[in-house]
Amino acid sequence: KGQGRNQVHCFTSDDKESDEFQSNMQWIHILHYALENDHLEMHYQPVVDIKTQEIAYYEALVRLNVEGKLIYPNEFIPTLEKFDDMNLLDHHVVNCALKDLANYPELKRIAINLSAQAFRDKRLLPLIEGTLKTFNVEPQRVIFELTESASLSNLSATQNMIERLSDLGCDFSIDDFGTGFSTFAYLKNLPADTVKIDGSFVKEMLHNKIDLALVKAICEVAGALNKKTVAEFVESEAILDLLSDINVDYAQGYFLGKPQALSVLFPLKEDNLSLA
Ligand code: C2E
Ligand code: MG
Ligand code: MG
Ligand code: MG
Repeated sequence: KGQGRNQVHCFTSDDKESDEFQSNMQWIHILHYALENDHLEMHYQPVVDIKTQEIAYYEALVRLNVEGKLIYPNEFIPTLEKFDDMNLLDHHVVNCALKDLANYPELKRIAINLSAQAFRDKRLLPLIEGTLKTFNVEPQRVIFELTESASLSNLSATQNMIERLSDLGCDFSIDDFGTGFSTFAYLKNLPADTVKIDGSFVKEMLHNKIDLALVKAICEVAGALNKKTVAEFVESEAILDLLSDINVDYAQGYFLGKPQALSVLFPLKEDNLSLA
């Protein structure tokens, strides 16, 4: 399918490609099974306002639960993207995360990751709008994140979708900023509210002068364009202090809190629910 339409491809049993194909098909099967049987769960990771040190919002991160063992998205999302099969997962995540947001006022606001395919999916916007209404969630409580490389593939569709999301009242954030191509041009063209600086720069910025220079440059440009900045992969207090010195707005990372299930984040609430 990846090579285009109207083609036949033959596989032999000793074909490396064939093994890869089999493993891809297995993932797709596992994912469809998980979607039908509710084996996907959302975990939530806090994002902290560096000035006030308070949690500003949580990022929703999907996990596949196979008999108690968690499988992380980097293992299965690439296969789904390769086979153009991300829409079901995006729809599922939007539904689960907005439902959680309605049930947990403690979450305040959440960020939901969307796939590159989301911006070609005509059903997604009505689905978001309908789900917000169903669960009676204020759109201002929702931020959508899209990786920079994903937005590159179809700029006008992406712009259009972001504008319509922002008409609804949702915010939009460019994820993993700095890892794609011609990044500053996209900063100019995408009506994003925040820029999420890729963790690979943040992680090493104490020891690597180039990374520090890049983080500073991204902040300066984002500031000039009136966009807020978020740093991901904040793994120590020293990094947090440095981010504060260079006026980054928000921080997220293991030092501030790992992604966790709602039952772990808000255990008392679970007790209340089970008593009710
Ligand atoms: P992302 O959106 O950039 O999310 C941040 C990733 O970094 C998460 O990995 C998170 O667990 C991890 N992380 C957070 N703090 C730290 C830290 O201090 N150090 C390190 N080394 N890592 C940290 P995760 O959950 O495995 O997700 C990986 C990627 O999969 C995400 O990257 C996002 O692109 C995608 N993804 C996750 N959930 C969803 C989803 O529901 N829908 C879609 N479409 N994509 C998702
Ligand atoms: Mg993200
Ligand atoms: Mg990210
Ligand atoms: Mg990242």
